[in-house]
Amino acid sequence: MSWRLGTGLLALLAICLVPALAGAVVYLNHLRAMALRDAYREADLVALGTSDRLRWLLQDAEAMLASVAGRPLVRKLDPTACDPILAEFRAISPAFKTLALRLTDGRSLCSELTQPPSQESVAASPWFQAAIRQPGFHASDGHLGVVRQEWTVRLTHPVKDASGQTLALLITPLDLLQLQERLFAQLPASNVGAVVDAANRVLVRSTRQDERAGKPAVEAVAQVIDALRQDAGHAGVQVSVSRQFAEIGIDGVRRLYAVRTVPMSNWVVVCGLPEEETLQDYYATRNRSLAVILAVLVLASLAAWRISRGIRLPILGLAAAARSVARGDLLPRAPEAGPTEVRDVAREFNSMVVATVEARERLSASEREYRTLLQNLPVAVVSHASNGAVELFNDRACALLRMTPEQMGGTAADSPVWHFVDAQGERVQPRDYPVAQLLHTRLPLSPQTFGIVGADSPVAHTWVLVTGYPQLDGEGRLLHAVVAFVDISAQHDAEQLRRAKESAEAASQAKSDFLSRLSHELRTPLNAIIGFTQLIRMDPQLQAERRAQLGHVLGAGEHLLSLVNQILDISRIESGQQEVETQPVPLAPLLENCIAICRPLAQAAAVVLEVAGPVPGEADLVSLHVQAEPTRLRQVVMNLLSNAVKYNRPRGTVRLAVRQDVAGGEGPDVHVDITDTGIGLAPPQLERLFEPFNRVGAERTSVEGHGLGLAHSRALARSMGAEITVTSQPGQGSCFTLHLHRAGHPAAGQRPARVL
Ligand code: ADP
Repeated sequence: MSWRLGTGLLALLAICLVPALAGAVVYLNHLRAMALRDAYREADLVALGTSDRLRWLLQDAEAMLASVAGRPLVRKLDPTACDPILAEFRAISPAFKTLALRLTDGRSLCSELTQPPSQESVAASPWFQAAIRQPGFHASDGHLGVVRQEWTVRLTHPVKDASGQTLALLITPLDLLQLQERLFAQLPASNVGAVVDAANRVLVRSTRQDERAGKPAVEAVAQVIDALRQDAGHAGVQVSVSRQFAEIGIDGVRRLYAVRTVPMSNWVVVCGLPEEETLQDYYATRNRSLAVILAVLVLASLAAWRISRGIRLPILGLAAAARSVARGDLLPRAPEAGPTEVRDVAREFNSMVVATVEARERLSASEREYRTLLQNLPVAVVSHASNGAVELFNDRACALLRMTPEQMGGTAADSPVWHFVDAQGERVQPRDYPVAQLLHTRLPLSPQTFGIVGADSPVAHTWVLVTGYPQLDGEGRLLHAVVAFVDISAQHDAEQLRRAKESAEAASQAKSDFLSRLSHELRTPLNAIIGFTQLIRMDPQLQAERRAQLGHVLGAGEHLLSLVNQILDISRIESGQQEVETQPVPLAPLLENCIAICRPLAQAAAVVLEVAGPVPGEADLVSLHVQAEPTRLRQVVMNLLSNAVKYNRPRGTVRLAVRQDVAGGEGPDVHVDITDTGIGLAPPQLERLFEPFNRVGAERTSVEGHGLGLAHSRALARSMGAEITVTSQPGQGSCFTLHLHRAGHPAAGQRPARVL
């Protein structure tokens, strides 16, 4: 059940106040009852006093009339003796106005009235009839006097003979105005007093006597009086009984009435006190009490409202702050107001929010660090959700996959932009992708190598080593599948290269082995051919023609043997079978010897062979020693010189020069330039210049050759740690340079890496 604080407090207030209010009402009712009781008692006292005074008056009248009736003169009923009788009566009671003596038949014997009512009218009067029937004193009901036409009451007493027989009646009227004066003179104006007769007609009234005399009492009053008469009947005539009631009087004022019988008569005294005035004290007390109750109610309501507001507002503030926090807005704070308990709760809540803010800041800082770390890792990282969607990635992942962050964000594990290939270049199915394996097995992945193939090329642009691990929660559910890629393209290429080199070396070795064996196989029969040809030529009987023919055979055989030897030499050098022992070789004599050998060839080709004059600073050329194997060095120089002559033009020049590097370095420091002014070589020719049997176009000329000289020379040079380079201008000439190490050079004697 939900309820509001205000409603609850009001209910609590009601629970506390309702019994208090009920008690107050009971108390006020009790007070009212007490006040009413007191008021009725006061009214009854007034009625009792009036009743008593009336009784005393009637007792006086009875005593007076009895005293007169007992006189012998009266009992004689002598009309002539009236004067003495009346004189005596007057002497006894001056209070009574007139006295009359009438016989039971109504005849008047004595009367103070000058014109007494007639016998008939009196005899017929109800009051006279009633009086005759009474054994003693009688107070009549009210009636209209015949003489004065005023409402009056007759007090009568019988005059009896010795046997107790009523002979006559002594009659005296009661002056009602005088009676009113006597009864109600002291009565306060607001009170009402009245005497009613047996017929419930008003005899005397404290106010408006003239108007009300002889009028019937108000109906409600008459009913109470009838009930009172019944009470009196039970109680006896001599005892005054009373009743109380409240009624609105003829003047419209509500009064508290007390009615009392009057002993010695059938009359009833009615006394009324105005309720308002009589209960004034009660009303004042009641009003004060009501004011106090109202004040308490108002104060209690105000206090409840204030308490409710004092609790409700901070709690509403707290609830608003809590809603903001729930929405992720940590700025609002709960108001620290209201009762201590609520304030403590607000303070605790605010502390919690501050702690949350600090924790969030720490988390953000940690996340920034984590992201920085992630971004700066030399590894590409991609974290996938359990449905395979990409959740987190670093720049390196974008770079490796060649995707923009927008393309990466939210994409599934497999993308149309790229795909994986295995080490053999076969396309990997998406179900075998690392992330798919992780999602399926939920086990860490062992490193696997994949190639990443983009949309623009069918071959892998990057090779990666992929690992991955699943992030599980405490119950073993997969939260993330994290995949890490390391770029191993360089290693992969190096490996590929190594394998290619190995296979090439293996192929080269096989070729060299083949050539070596082949050369061996060829040399044996060639030597036989050359030997036997030389033997046959020694025959003196051989015809000149045959001798010339055998000369051709011998020349061809020697040429072939030279070729085979060169091939054998190249293959031995390349296969590393031939160890070369280098030594300091004086360069100048060797070069001079080579030039001397080539000079006839040059002269035959009309080519000038010249040696460059001594260069300044190179005067030590004479003593220059290079690290080489002399025979091979000679072979190389000879080959370069003969080529410079062969591929020169008539009257061309071949120039030999030696340069030395002054500053010491790692590389060769002695350079032998053989420059010609021949046909020169174009760049495409230069590229293939050192390939065996490739004459780069010379095969279409008349220059003889077999395309092995340069290949052999380079192999020989390299076997000594030297090198041959060439520069050329087509049509202008070429410059072949042999780079050598000066003897004593640190690198001299080192075998260079084998070049294929
Ligand atoms: P060959 O037996 O043909 O001379 P080489 O191996 O010595 O074989 O030379 C290969 C080719 O290089 C030659 O056929 C020639 O075309 C070219 N060549 C060599 N030396 C020169 C040079 N000095 N000037 C122009 N071309 C040259």
